[in-house]
Amino acid sequence: MKKQLILLAMLVISIVSFAQEKPYFQQDVAYKMEVTLNDQTHEVYGDIEISYKNNSPDALDKIYMHLWPNAYQDGTALANQFLRNKETDMHYAEIDKLGGINDLDFKINGSKVTWTYDLNHKDIAILELANPLQSGESLTISTPFVVDIPASFSRLGHVKESYQMTQWYPKPAVYDRFGWHPMPYLNMGEFFSEFGSFDVKITLPKNYVVGATGVLQNKKELAFLMEKVKMTNEVIENEEFAKSTKNDSFPPSSSELKTIQYKAENVHDFAWFADKRFYVQKSQVTLASGAKVDTWAMFTNYQGDIWTKGVEYVDRSVLYYSERVGEYPYPHATAVQSALSAGGGMEYPMITVIGPSGDGKSLDNVITHEVGHNWFYGILGSNERDYPWMDEGMNSYYESDYMAKYYGSSGMDIGIPPVAMKLLDAEDLDIEKLAYLWQARQLNNQPMNTTSDELTMINYQMSAYSIPSMMFKYLEMYLGTKEYDRVAQKYYTDWKFHHPYPSDVKAHFEKETGKDLSWFFDEFFNTRKSIDYALGKVVVGKSSTNVTIKNRGEINAPFVISVTKDSTVTNHWFDGFSGTESFDIPAIEGATYSIDANGDMLEIDRKNNFQKRPAKLKFLAGLENPKKKTLYVTPTLGYNAYDGFMLGLGFYNRVFPARDFEFMFTPMFGFNSKTVVGLGSFKYRLYSDKGIFRETTLSTNVRSFNRLENTDDDYFERYTTITPSVRFELRRSDISQTKQFITLKYRHILKEKALLDGINGDFRGKKINDRNIFEGSYELKQNTAFNKTDIEFSILGEGYEKGNGTNVTYIRATLDANYSFKYRKNKKKSFDVRLYAGKFLAHDDADFGTFPMALNSNGFTDNYYDNFYFGREEQSGLLSKQVSLDQGGFKLPIPKTQSFGVTNDLIVTMNIKADLPLRLPLRLPLNLPIKPYIDLGYVKSTAPSATNPTEFFYNAGVALDLFDGILGVYFPLIGTEALMNQQPNFGSRISFNLNLNKLNGLEALRNISL
Ligand SMILES: [Zn+2]
Repeated sequence: MKKQLILLAMLVISIVSFAQEKPYFQQDVAYKMEVTLNDQTHEVYGDIEISYKNNSPDALDKIYMHLWPNAYQDGTALANQFLRNKETDMHYAEIDKLGGINDLDFKINGSKVTWTYDLNHKDIAILELANPLQSGESLTISTPFVVDIPASFSRLGHVKESYQMTQWYPKPAVYDRFGWHPMPYLNMGEFFSEFGSFDVKITLPKNYVVGATGVLQNKKELAFLMEKVKMTNEVIENEEFAKSTKNDSFPPSSSELKTIQYKAENVHDFAWFADKRFYVQKSQVTLASGAKVDTWAMFTNYQGDIWTKGVEYVDRSVLYYSERVGEYPYPHATAVQSALSAGGGMEYPMITVIGPSGDGKSLDNVITHEVGHNWFYGILGSNERDYPWMDEGMNSYYESDYMAKYYGSSGMDIGIPPVAMKLLDAEDLDIEKLAYLWQARQLNNQPMNTTSDELTMINYQMSAYSIPSMMFKYLEMYLGTKEYDRVAQKYYTDWKFHHPYPSDVKAHFEKETGKDLSWFFDEFFNTRKSIDYALGKVVVGKSSTNVTIKNRGEINAPFVISVTKDSTVTNHWFDGFSGTESFDIPAIEGATYSIDANGDMLEIDRKNNFQKRPAKLKFLAGLENPKKKTLYVTPTLGYNAYDGFMLGLGFYNRVFPARDFEFMFTPMFGFNSKTVVGLGSFKYRLYSDKGIFRETTLSTNVRSFNRLENTDDDYFERYTTITPSVRFELRRSDISQTKQFITLKYRHILKEKALLDGINGDFRGKKINDRNIFEGSYELKQNTAFNKTDIEFSILGEGYEKGNGTNVTYIRATLDANYSFKYRKNKKKSFDVRLYAGKFLAHDDADFGTFPMALNSNGFTDNYYDNFYFGREEQSGLLSKQVSLDQGGFKLPIPKTQSFGVTNDLIVTMNIKADLPLRLPLRLPLNLPIKPYIDLGYVKSTAPSATNPTEFFYNAGVALDLFDGILGVYFPLIGTEALMNQQPNFGSRISFNLNLNKLNGLEALRNISL
């Protein structure tokens, strides 16, 4: 008994001690560097010495070092991330454009140390310490190094003699209370570094202008910069900055060298930018405490016109953040315009680099965002790689507020004219909210607390930047701006020059506000859960109004009841709850009541926030407007050989962003058939975060058109298809490039057939031929940087009544595999292969049956009415030349026959099409997209009436792929004799294909893996 108790006690103690977080500590580092820039070989070489003090309670037996210039090579985490995001520039780059860090010879306290590259990452090294570094002790790491500067693929780089020296020197990874944080360099995903000091000497040709982290130590260099400032001011005064003149020519480098020195304290990185063409602006701001900050802008004459205000933007942003967050602690803030291939701007302590900008406003926007990172990245040094929202999200929140303050709106200006915005119901357009709704309603959003490399490209933008920014705004509105600022300012003072984690932000905000903020930091930031309150009954009383609210969401977040009278909104905030509750609020006579009239919350559905939603009919399209119910209408035009020209109206409820239930209904009048024809569909989508299916779509499509006209007896034969289906998308990892689907489909086809008199053949009326088809299929779609794969395996069974009254059933299996390989860099040139195989597993009909599989898919072999044809039953003329690229995929239009090119048993075909590798030697009009193609086929039949039981076919020619593949025209040139003989001459062998699915923009957008 005693023994057991001891064991239990030991277990408890070990669990407790294991779970206990170590107390906060941070390491100290001090860097000394002396480097030289060789602008002939584009190298930086020199020596580095790092004093490293171990403030942790642990003895360290190794030190992880980042060697990030090595990222610019094949097979690195950076290279892999580029390919995942379909960016192939670095993949296809010549070897001399790549980069690296070489000639390393690490020493610890002057003695050689054993070191290796990390097994998985050559941009991480591990120094094995012969004697562990004890708690409280220091050591010195030193090494020579040569940086081979890559072309501008991401951040570190050069464009000719313009240099962006970032993430360029050997640097220890962070060791903190959670252990080591070695991380390979990434384009999408930022940094985490130890605070310390830098003393850097840079030697380079005398006529380079340099902007860097730290304080310049040389009077002579300062005079050189002031000379540049004078010259720049003259150019500005004379209005000599041309509008966006891209000048790639560089003045020759002076043969004399200079050595300049910078010192910086309390920073965790050192970056510098060198360019002989830089113009320089200088200013200064005085903070509330009286502290002065020097501000600089450096830029070339490319966009010199909008940079003339560059330094003013730096001034204003330093003042804004100092006032709202806390005072800027460094001696200068600088913005430089230089090459950058990772976003619009990039932050480093005291210095930011800005790429090309649209106009003054967007330049201000980017400068402010990057200067703001001095607070959220520079001073509050969080682990951005794992929690990008801690710097990007919190910073974007302030940046939006700055833009709202100085430009009136924080929303992105996407350049749509006001008239069009009104037509689209988009006067209140907030593109970031729409993007959130688009992703979240399809459960494609990812929690904020997802590491950078596990976020998709769009979600990196959203989970790191826009969603947390909107959420912090939500929190501000809930707490009140004054209280929010007090809490945020204290967070800044408590944590500056430290490494806060999400748990620290949460603990701070909860302690300061006295509120439970788990809805925010846990439920919203850790999951895909969404917020949604619905307005219920509103009982207006004399002094107070009773409002019933239902929480339809998954989070008990605070919410606001708005009372609107005229255009004045009074807001009443309440803490979250679950279920249904009612609330008393002061009544205002003649007011309307709603949830969150101003859109301060971030809800997934605002349509249920308002008392009355007037319904209206709207032309063409619009954005979802939560205050209105809208049915869209558009005139539709169609044509087929039997109904003639068709005119009608399309009614639909589809809007952007997506919604769960969507319908479309398009009745049309056929002027030839004088009947109503048309199509319609509805779709209901369900999303789940659990189980094997992430999305389930229930849908039904209906289509009814005439397919034949008999002019002698003046009647039409119509077909109608009703197709309910359910489609499941299998769960996948968020960043997976492969999607899988399982679809179950039932097709009910009603086909009118003329009843003819057995003796004289007179028309005696019509009967309806009824078909029932069941299909199950599995589909795999993969889309990578180099290829596209789409494989579908399907089993289909049908029972129908033959003309003679006998019942026939069959089961058919098909495989349709498409593979497209992009074979040229930076171009869309591709090589497409399709393999099609079909086999009847069972068939009651002894002969070909009514629905054989065919080499050539056209109006009369389209057994299941999958495609639209202008002339479904046409035997001659232009309309008979329309083919579809399903079934055997042969393009030569084979006329309707009982036995040629069809089978009741087995068909295997291969269709190959390729872009020409070179541009054609002769210049064709419109630069026609000509592609050679070849079709190969094997058909085996067991039908008694088959002339050849097995047959091989081939056919080759050229295709014209017009309007991005919507229209294809095929010119068969050579082929198997029997096949070519199906049409009498070259002209009659030409066929065309219309891919209307490509025109459905919203559906196409859904299919893009964002
Ligand atoms: Zn940023």
